[in-house]
Amino acid sequence: MVRLRLKITHCPRPALTLADTPRPNCPTCQGAGGNAHDYNDDTGKYAGTRWEPCPCWTQWAVILLPLPRWPRRTLTSHSAEPPF
Ligand SMILES: [Zn+2]
Repeated sequence: MVRLRLKITHCPRPALTLADTPRPNCPTCQGAGGNAHDYNDDTGKYAGTRWEPCPCWTQWAVILLPLPRWPRRTLTSHSAEPPF
């Protein structure tokens, strides 16, 4: 089942997106959207953690409306004032 939500994303750029979301009461992921699995390399040593998305949702998002960067944030990041 697809549960569409409006979501503001900031990566790679600010935009209003329509995104699928995990089921909040999913018995597999408890709404987290997936499960992290540790995995080992050939010698049996810990080699990292892989995130496996839960099949209760799909990781896609449609950009509905690109948003302008907030003027206040632009001022802050490009401020010429020394950081006292
Ligand atoms: Zn799930």
